[in-house]
Amino acid sequence: MKVAVFSTKAYDRHFLSTVNSPTQHELVFFEPRLNRDTAILAAGFPAVCVFVHDQVDAPTLELLASWGTRLVVLRCAGFNNVDLQAAANLGITVVRVPAYSPYGVAEHAVGLILSLNRKIHRAYNRVREGNFSLDGLLGFNLHERTVGIIGTGKIGLILGQIMKGFGCELLAYDVYHNPELEALGGKYVELPELLANSDIISLHCPLIPETHHLIDTEAIKQIKSGVMLINTSRGALIDTQAVIEGLKSGKIGYLGVDVYEQESELFFEDLSGEIIQDDIFQRLTTFPNVLITGHQAFFTAEALHNIAETTFANIADVEQGHSCANEIRAQPSA
Ligand code: NAD
Repeated sequence: MKVAVFSTKAYDRHFLSTVNSPTQHELVFFEPRLNRDTAILAAGFPAVCVFVHDQVDAPTLELLASWGTRLVVLRCAGFNNVDLQAAANLGITVVRVPAYSPYGVAEHAVGLILSLNRKIHRAYNRVREGNFSLDGLLGFNLHERTVGIIGTGKIGLILGQIMKGFGCELLAYDVYHNPELEALGGKYVELPELLANSDIISLHCPLIPETHHLIDTEAIKQIKSGVMLINTSRGALIDTQAVIEGLKSGKIGYLGVDVYEQESELFFEDLSGEIIQDDIFQRLTTFPNVLITGHQAFFTAEALHNIAETTFANIADVEQGHSCANEIRAQPSA
């Protein structure tokens, strides 16, 4: 199938081209993101392939449909950037890669936890400048600390397994109870109980209307003072302004994020020579107890390979008229 592949970097092109045999699909790579202005690039392509920051909203889908696109192939798990109802109305099929790096993301969350706790990011800079003072680098043992996991699907479960290995207690909150987490000794509680009793809180639920700003001023009031908050899921799970207030008051002791609500304006690009206009993001970077990475939790060689394999399998399923297990559809309205 002829596929217009948007938001591609050199690493995407490498893995997609390597996994795609020359006779399989005709891939045309575009660097820009898909949106209303760039949709014209896909004119005549039956399929478009997109990532987390492409804007697959109703107007973009209408343009794509008018030029012959019938398939949207997501190279990611989250689909909050796609108007599924509009796609269904236009007869466009949407498929995704539901799991490509659960270990990679969970391991990155652990990396944030360890770095923030033991201040490795600060120690790295100090030592390079010949400053071997330990003042300000005091950490705590993870052993016997309580980790609250919000969202215990694939990634949340693996985080639980790893933190169990550190000797942590596990609290969990999810609309669905995962028996594998319970088998680890994890205890499901209501959200307020998790917030009040966790030393570390890590977010692993999807961004949906029910989870938008899950961590807001009210939630921050309920947390244990000095908590470590980790978000490798989606930026808008957190009300960033409220979290900044929590950091200023000391209620939040540490913040590690791989995602940010307005990240589409920033992440995946080299803006080192530019003036960043986002004052909320810039304020976050001023705290010594905040560690930010630019949506790289998924970024392992295994993940990029899995993404490419699943993407082509999804396209083949749809092309051959098979039902595709990774198709996503709009929820029927109540
Ligand atoms: P998953 O579908 O396996 O698990 C998500 C869990 O969240 C499920 O158990 C589900 O029941 C739960 N959930 C749904 N609604 C909830 C609610 N209202 N409250 C609490 N829990 C709720 O997904 P996953 O593969 O573990 O991925 C989790 C998230 O990680 C994804 O939604 C995605 O946004 C994010 N992600 C980030 C990266 C990255 O690079 N930073 C990469 C992949 C995925």
